Amino acid sequence: MPELRSRWQRTLCPYCGVGCGLLVRVEDGAVTRVKGDPDHPANFGDVCAKAVHLPPALRTPDRLLHPEVRSRCDRERRRVPWELALRFTAERLSEIIAAHGADAVAVYASGQLTTEEYYLASKLTRGFIGTNNFDTNSRLCMASAAAGYARSLGSDGPPTAYADIDEADCFFLIGTNTADCHPITFKRIRKRKLAAPDRVTVIVADPRWTETADLADLHLPLRPGSDVALLNGMLHVLWKSGLVDDAFISRCTTGWPELTRALDRCPPERAAEITGLSAEIIVEAARRFGRARAALTLWSMGVNQSHAGTDKNGAILNLHLAAGQIGRPGAGPFSLTGQPNAMGGRETGGLSHLLPGYRRVTEAAERADVERHWGLTPGTLHDRPGLSALEIFERAAGGEVRALWIIATNPAASMPELDLVEKALRQAELVIVQDAYHPTETTRFADVLLPAAQWPEKDGVMTNSERRLTYLPKLVDPPGEALPDSVIVTRLAAELGFKHAFAYGSTGEIFAEFAALTAGRPCDYSGVSHARLTSAGPLQWPVPTADHGGTPRLYTDARFPTTDGRARFIAVEPDDPVEQPDDTFPLILTTGRVRDHWHTLTRTANAPALVARTPEPILEVHPSDARRAGVSDGDFVEITSRRGKAVAQCRVALTIREGTCFLPFHWGRRFGFYKSANNLTLAARDPISKQPELKACAVRLRRVAEVGA
Ligand code: SF4
Repeated sequence: MPELRSRWQRTLCPYCGVGCGLLVRVEDGAVTRVKGDPDHPANFGDVCAKAVHLPPALRTPDRLLHPEVRSRCDRERRRVPWELALRFTAERLSEIIAAHGADAVAVYASGQLTTEEYYLASKLTRGFIGTNNFDTNSRLCMASAAAGYARSLGSDGPPTAYADIDEADCFFLIGTNTADCHPITFKRIRKRKLAAPDRVTVIVADPRWTETADLADLHLPLRPGSDVALLNGMLHVLWKSGLVDDAFISRCTTGWPELTRALDRCPPERAAEITGLSAEIIVEAARRFGRARAALTLWSMGVNQSHAGTDKNGAILNLHLAAGQIGRPGAGPFSLTGQPNAMGGRETGGLSHLLPGYRRVTEAAERADVERHWGLTPGTLHDRPGLSALEIFERAAGGEVRALWIIATNPAASMPELDLVEKALRQAELVIVQDAYHPTETTRFADVLLPAAQWPEKDGVMTNSERRLTYLPKLVDPPGEALPDSVIVTRLAAELGFKHAFAYGSTGEIFAEFAALTAGRPCDYSGVSHARLTSAGPLQWPVPTADHGGTPRLYTDARFPTTDGRARFIAVEPDDPVEQPDDTFPLILTTGRVRDHWHTLTRTANAPALVARTPEPILEVHPSDARRAGVSDGDFVEITSRRGKAVAQCRVALTIREGTCFLPFHWGRRFGFYKSANNLTLAARDPISKQPELKACAVRLRRVAEVGA
């Protein structure tokens, strides 16, 4: 039946948190074309180049096709049947747990997983293996936003929707190069701006002049890491100019008097000293924000990847609460997630201090809910947060964590301080890597390699940045012996002796079990099912009943999920990045993404058109810094930090603030040891969110003859 072998089918983009709906052409069992789904409310038919060039990235020579195991680290891995691989893995895990306790095991997963897969891995690790050492690469991405929302508003969860872009008359983009990293969201902002250029203001705070900044009425090239000073300075102006919403502050918040004492220390002149901006531009930005009918602040890793990321989020939320810019059409704080299902991960307990449904491991009643749901004896779940991502690898390097199970992520390329991560992977007694691709920087350390299906070889649900759940159907079969991650987790759970708790007939059953656990929680989607998403389309949570139509924006009643129903102002103070420039390392390096690549290149390096557009990492340097370092445009430059070196060709341009340089992080060591920006970055982290400071480390530059010279 040719019409069945060749047709367009609806699904979701597997790349970023914008969560664009796609139409995928499947011909003779393979994806041949991808285009935007005109009916999906995240993108209305638009897509970026990464999605269009998905087909060549799926069936590639580096797909992992069969399980492989090595019984000792000095042996070669060899192909084995699934049964043997899972039995070996279960036996080794059981031995390590028996000898050293469950906390000697740690699981590190990914926002590439579906909600069902996240939920199962979290359930197995916390409820049955018996450790809270379950963390994900959301820790590198959105942990500070999650912590910031919870601290100020009482719960994680962006309160806004993409529909707010069409209503806002002031966009404040801070720490986000939206044009490159969330291109379809940016196109929507640009459309709004260009439709009413005089009525709509765009303010961009970024040390770099990017395509995002090119749209701005005001570009604020602040010093890296000085966001709190800028935000406090702006809020000082609002406060002193009578542009705060006194009624909202008194009726809906706590902590304003304490915050004003911190603001007193940060007038615009002081904010100007710290940020390197003029006081005048800070005042102008504040006035434009304060006079807006509806202001939308968007941010991403530039804010979150910081040792003060939670405070930076707190400062953004302070600004919105003080101005009453929340819970109304077009108004609100809107964090942009990185991975396609980073939000689903947070909802299912994908950070080591969380349990499913935004519950905390530290709360007895919340643990009890989950224990009941999972049929566990009361007191089974641990009350101490598990290890966060960086801690997992530090403890493994120190010998305390002995078994690492890594699912759908590549920490040997994406983490800071790669020497330490590699040491951890060499040192661990058991390294299990479950991935669709091999080799990656991480798979080469594996004792056990488990081949995983990827998009669109499995089905499940993902949540995008605006809390919208979309069902992704299975459209093609996985290659070789690859299996969906949910199947791998349930089969391993059975080998470990927990078959009774992991006996599911379908992913729909797994979803139903998790969705029921969200009932009554802020992220309640107990009214959602696979069948409903398939027939009615994507929905924004909360969706508490089967006839509820979803919730575009939160807090429309100005009630917050805190004990007193009020949002909390947090008195945050400016704090410099951990590493400051000095005579030896005179520049601050900031790292980030480019438009044509995704994370550690496992997919996009397989798409020739994307590689052709951006074949290599390029270092961006200000002309004055280049002159002082003796480098010219096009030179190969050695970049040295206190931890290591990288080499890249440089672009000398006025597009970056003097004293700052930029290097994309996508290229790991398998592309050439010195191409990796994470040779340079440091493991300093936020004390609350535990998110690493990937956006600022001190470096020096030196011209070299060629790569690796
Ligand atoms: S913007 Fe993100 S979700 Fe949308 S098509 Fe591009 S990569 Fe995919």
